[in-house]
Amino acid sequence: MPFDFKKHDDELLFVPLGGTNEIGMNLNLYRYQGKWLMVDLGIGFADDFLPGIEVVVPKLDGFLPHKKDLLGLVLTHAHEDHLGAVPYLWPELGCPVYATPFTANLLRVKMAEEGLKGRAKIIEVRAGEDYPLGPFTLEMIPITHSIPEMHAVAIRTEAGTVMHTGDWKLDANPLIGPTSDEKTLARYGDEGVLAMVCDSTNVFVEGESGSESDVRTSLMQIIKECSERVVVTTFASNVARLESVIYAALGAGRSVALAGKSLWRVVAAAQEAGYLKDVPPFLNDSEGMKLPRNRVAFICTGCQGESRAALSKIAQAEHPAIRLTPGDTVIFSSRTIPGNETKIGRMHNKLVELGLEVINDHSGFTHVSGHPARMELERMYQLVRPEIAVPVHGERRHIHEHAKLATQLQVKETVTPHNGAVVRLAAGRAEIIGKVTSGYLAVDGTSLMDTESPVLRTRRKIRDDGFLSVSLVLDKKQRLMAPPKFSAPGCLDPEDDRDIFAALREEIEAIIEKGGKPERLEESIRNLLRRALRDELGKKPVLDVHLHRV
Ligand SMILES: [Zn+2]
Ligand SMILES: [Zn+2]
Repeated sequence: MPFDFKKHDDELLFVPLGGTNEIGMNLNLYRYQGKWLMVDLGIGFADDFLPGIEVVVPKLDGFLPHKKDLLGLVLTHAHEDHLGAVPYLWPELGCPVYATPFTANLLRVKMAEEGLKGRAKIIEVRAGEDYPLGPFTLEMIPITHSIPEMHAVAIRTEAGTVMHTGDWKLDANPLIGPTSDEKTLARYGDEGVLAMVCDSTNVFVEGESGSESDVRTSLMQIIKECSERVVVTTFASNVARLESVIYAALGAGRSVALAGKSLWRVVAAAQEAGYLKDVPPFLNDSEGMKLPRNRVAFICTGCQGESRAALSKIAQAEHPAIRLTPGDTVIFSSRTIPGNETKIGRMHNKLVELGLEVINDHSGFTHVSGHPARMELERMYQLVRPEIAVPVHGERRHIHEHAKLATQLQVKETVTPHNGAVVRLAAGRAEIIGKVTSGYLAVDGTSLMDTESPVLRTRRKIRDDGFLSVSLVLDKKQRLMAPPKFSAPGCLDPEDDRDIFAALREEIEAIIEKGGKPERLEESIRNLLRRALRDELGKKPVLDVHLHRV
């Protein structure tokens, strides 16, 4: 039975469909008086479980029956795990999108790339103003993170106020944009906040996350000490970090060249929103290569080892313009996102193989996180003082630990939802009261596919065990008209495994000669192949038996 939302019209409900079983793919829904508000709509990255898939987006099935009551989508910031799914899923929703100018600029570019130019109504919002949307009134509150224009969203309703923090940290010197608006957060705390839905990413990190300005000082020093070419890779959307690298390069007498599409895209969006204005024009990669080695710094995409990004191509000496030589330095101004260790390690090895110096966040001070460590979380709870804590943006272990911390900080109630939980936000009665469908859709080339679909299950099996098909042509009397024909990509080699094919052929011929019920024939051959390949190879390939009767 689907959850009966109508029975709960007078209650404020929170329904996360992504981001509470993982770090990534954020999708949060609020419901009150029959109306819905969506906060963020992001992508997640696929793991080995989904062969051929890089990106997943949240499954909307649990929400789609209610989409006519969706008043809008609010984006807290422009990170992919918060807006990356909009181009894929907005056509299903068709609602207006609320975002600040920088986020809106990036979204417009992404929508245009997906052939949706001008389709969505994107409404630019600013801090310090009220945006009434049916039973909800929104206020965007500036808060620091690792991208410009991050905003927490205060959601006021007659049933109480929710502070939806999004991703944040408390950086006293963020370099770009204002510091976190602690005054407004505290004002909400004074007025009374019913629930805080808050970032759990770094709940296991003691102390504070550190400031962007400290990274800048360190990068200035590191780049000054480099003698030949410098290549810096970082998260493209961290505009303050880009500015730090630019200043560090200029300070060391180097011009800056960019390599990677997403960097150019972010730089354009940033300049349009008024950032990175007072820097000389950027060179492209081949212009950068024409400069003396000690007069250039490249900023590259690919800090997570992405196979198609610039740094990975440089490491494999396959980049169309950039060739590095011994004595050049590669700086990772980033951290390894869990799950990417192998890819990044492999790339690091290749860079060392080329004779390059590599500096990362282990061997130098090149990065600070954009998420709150425990002391910052404590400060946030002191400011906002919610009645209910709802940790999100975390795997189960992060969410569980965050709830423990909130309890230690005197928050009366905590709720730890999974994706798909229906959470009642009511003082003294906060709890999970139901469940809706949630899950993942794989972005497979140009289409979306359920990650539980038979196609992906079969693809996984083929990847692990290979595939074997056999075609048989039989006449009316059930006699073979030609020898069985095999094809076994990823399983057997047509030349090297000739003996195995010959043996299989003989056994199949024997089964057919023996006769028996025609309708059982396919099954008998399948059983034979299954047994023979298990004995011969110790594998269970995907089998396909074609019987043609003429
Ligand atoms: Zn973020
Ligand atoms: Zn995030």
